[in-house]
Amino acid sequence: MTIAIVGAGLGGLALARVLHVNGIDAVVYERETSRDARGQGGMLDIHADTGQRALREAGLFDRFSAIARNEGQDMRLLEPDGTLLLQEDTPDDAPFERPEVDRADLRDLLLDSLPEDTVRWGHAFESAEDGVLHFFDGHSAGGRTATYDLLVGADGAHSRVRPLLTDARPAHLGHNFVELRIPDVDRTHPDLAARVGRGTYWALGDGKSLAAQRNGDGTVRVGLSFYGTGEDWFATGGMPLDDPAAARTWLIEELNGWDARFTELIAACDDAVVPRSIAALPVGLTWPSAPDVTLVGDAAHLMPPVGEGANMALLDGVLLGLALAARPGDFPAAVEDYEREMFDRAETAARMSARVHELLTAPDAARKMLAFFQPTEAKVL
Ligand SMILES: Cc1cc2nc3c(=O)[nH]c(=O)nc-3n(C[C@H](O)[C@H](O)[C@H](O)COP(=O)(O)OP(=O)(O)OC[C@H]3O[C@@H](n4cnc5c(N)ncnc54)[C@H](O)[C@@H]3O)c2cc1C
Repeated sequence: MTIAIVGAGLGGLALARVLHVNGIDAVVYERETSRDARGQGGMLDIHADTGQRALREAGLFDRFSAIARNEGQDMRLLEPDGTLLLQEDTPDDAPFERPEVDRADLRDLLLDSLPEDTVRWGHAFESAEDGVLHFFDGHSAGGRTATYDLLVGADGAHSRVRPLLTDARPAHLGHNFVELRIPDVDRTHPDLAARVGRGTYWALGDGKSLAAQRNGDGTVRVGLSFYGTGEDWFATGGMPLDDPAAARTWLIEELNGWDARFTELIAACDDAVVPRSIAALPVGLTWPSAPDVTLVGDAAHLMPPVGEGANMALLDGVLLGLALAARPGDFPAAVEDYEREMFDRAETAARMSARVHELLTAPDAARKMLAFFQPTEAKVL
């Protein structure tokens, strides 16, 4: 039986790892041409009960512990006028609740845990029919087609495998996100390095948010969210995306009235400006189980980005792998077992993510988040 996984992200690689450990062959088809072809973005917080559980089941927890940054959990929560509402510093002996890890390091850890030829780079999936996968011309390194008995779509938010199971499409959340960065912050801007600290420095309110987060490589990533903005905001909102210096000036003007401690962070960023339009699949999405196709991760349950997606993708991959290993002669039954649990778990996580996302859009979002973090003892510093 041939298992074809489309997408070498966290979900697809976690699945391939568990299958490998259980002696089941699988091939991962990835459209990128190599592991370094594209920057993997910033930090992920990996939760004890989901992402960490997945890494334990995959036999990778010790290797994860070596690259995780527990101190990355530090948090400073502020209002736009600079009022500090919450400061949490992680003690040296704090338990591993939600340690941060660089996404690229985590992906490398998973890739390095697989035999060399498991991932076929440069294979952009186009379609599947009657047990045959088709790849886009010009992207295929080893031929335009491949066969499969079970196809797993691990191809992320804009999955091309998803339409084989459901007509559901991600809907824009009225949220547009701009990612900037300050490289080598300790050397170039030690004052800003101290301001951001070891974890996240987060200001929000007025339908906007600025989160500056220290990464393991000494970069500070600055993420700006604009809530209540339309799907065409990047095209029509006036931000000069083709001119990074002008884009920074424009963003600073959008934060008119915010304390200079926040806008100084934008001014210090380099010319890498990444726009992201934020969308989600319907909460509670399911589909009738098919014997030869299933989905993991964002392809199955794209959620608002409030910290669940990567954790869910890892756990999906691992639990599907374990279900297939438990029923090696009956993949359709294994897929049904996996989907039954995944649908419930993903619905709970998506509901919670939607609720948190809603809080972030409120005019007094920082105080709402304070109450969320400290429901019984919300107090102002
Ligand atoms: C701004 C932002 C911040 C986030 N922060 C967090 C966080 O802090 N914590 C958290 O848990 N989650 C976070 N998330 C969500 C998290 O990134 C995703 O949920 C997670 O990466 C999903 O993993 P995946 O394996 O399903 O998909 P992905 O990681 O997207 O991987 C999909 C892979 O499929 C490949 N692919 C796509 N199409 C094709 C094709 N046609 N053929 C072949 N290959 C293909 C892609 O190149 C990619 O390698 C964030 C998301 C965003 C947008």
